[in-house]
Amino acid sequence: MENQGKKMLESAQALITKTAEKMKLDSEMIKRLIEPEFAHEFALTITMDNGNKKVFKGWRIQHNSALGPYKGGIRFHKDTVREEVQALGTLMSIKCAVAGLPYGGGKGGIAVDPKTLSKTELERLSRAFVAKITPIIGEDVDVPAPDVNTTPQIMAWMLDEYQKVVGYKSPATFTGKPIALGGSLGRTEATGRGGLFVLQALLSKLSQKSKVKSQNLTVAVQGFGNVGYYFAKLATEVGFKIVAISDSKSGVYDKNGIDLDRALKNKKEKGTVSYGKTISNEELLELDVDVLVPAALENMVNDKNMAKIKAGIIVEMANGPLTQEAYEYLAKKGKVIVPDVLANSGGVTVSYLEWVQGKAGYFWSEKEVNDKLKVMINKAFEAIWKKSLEKKIPLKQAAFEVAIERITSALV
Ligand code: NAD
Repeated sequence: MENQGKKMLESAQALITKTAEKMKLDSEMIKRLIEPEFAHEFALTITMDNGNKKVFKGWRIQHNSALGPYKGGIRFHKDTVREEVQALGTLMSIKCAVAGLPYGGGKGGIAVDPKTLSKTELERLSRAFVAKITPIIGEDVDVPAPDVNTTPQIMAWMLDEYQKVVGYKSPATFTGKPIALGGSLGRTEATGRGGLFVLQALLSKLSQKSKVKSQNLTVAVQGFGNVGYYFAKLATEVGFKIVAISDSKSGVYDKNGIDLDRALKNKKEKGTVSYGKTISNEELLELDVDVLVPAALENMVNDKNMAKIKAGIIVEMANGPLTQEAYEYLAKKGKVIVPDVLANSGGVTVSYLEWVQGKAGYFWSEKEVNDKLKVMINKAFEAIWKKSLEKKIPLKQAAFEVAIERITSALV
């Protein structure tokens, strides 16, 4: 897994270097964009339920703070390694800049399979991590959030531990909290909703150029978790036809549109979304649809299946769902690919709105949050669309250029 982490880091750094070289930035500036400002590594010792001590490795990488406090989630995963955390922290600097947020980028992680821990062990590990990072985080310094396998409950333990040590309330130090502790309405659906706003903005531009129809488009969504489910649900509500969905076990196809309630009920009761015509994940990716939305994991579209992708538009809702090779191949074939740093930035944008509410001690209705998200996402999209037209470059390259321009202009 160390190799996979290394590959992720090399790929993130290569993307930045390539873009920065095209922008004619000098090598010292490129180093400032690549090297993390701080890389913290911890050994976390907790007492297990059986009385034995156990040691876990953890990291907090603070990549770049030119635009504001470091922002990024904390993941608990057995395969987490330092290089992966650094890669994700680097991409958070880009994503926050793309989204126009007053944040830098960071990421945290612990190498642990949380399924092997009891609830009390998980709480002790979460609190032990915060004991280590307390001196280096804070609402104006570094603002962590949930990521893979970390939840609002874990944020609640982490915030509680932080506040105990510092001796005052500081809800804006963590986002993704339960509503009762200062979480934001609309956060749960935010990533899916933001992705839908981006798709709608894109279609409106493409239909002006009469490149695509904008009515009754067919969509296939891979992944039926937080991101995939809400994307599919909200897209159906505004008239898109979701013809296929899938999760890690299997998928379902329905040319008349998926019954999402039925799929959700099946997943809860039988452990699979499938009903009616079952399809595999591979088949879903290769469907002849207008829009493909990979919303599960990284590297799902790769050298093995890239030649079979038929959709004209691909919205990267997961982080890194296309390998670099597949991305380049599909971009060359003229597919319109919305990069993850823009497509899934609705999540961090509403985390930002949670932070603003926490700092002000004043909370908005769900409609107010959703309206603000729409304004911010549309603004982010416009800047990238404009850059892409001006320079005749794909949206991904345009997103990296916009982000690098914003970061370097703040690096004094
Ligand atoms: P999740 O754990 O809620 O859901 C993941 C989904 O993917 C599940 O339905 C799972 O069954 C499915 N899946 C797993 N392996 C699969 C496979 N091999 N084939 C098909 N489906 C598979 O996670 P999530 O929060 O929905 O995140 C999904 C992706 O979006 C991740 O890449 C994550 O980093 C990214 N993301 C999430 C957010 C957020 O706010 N949740 C924000 C930005 C990016």
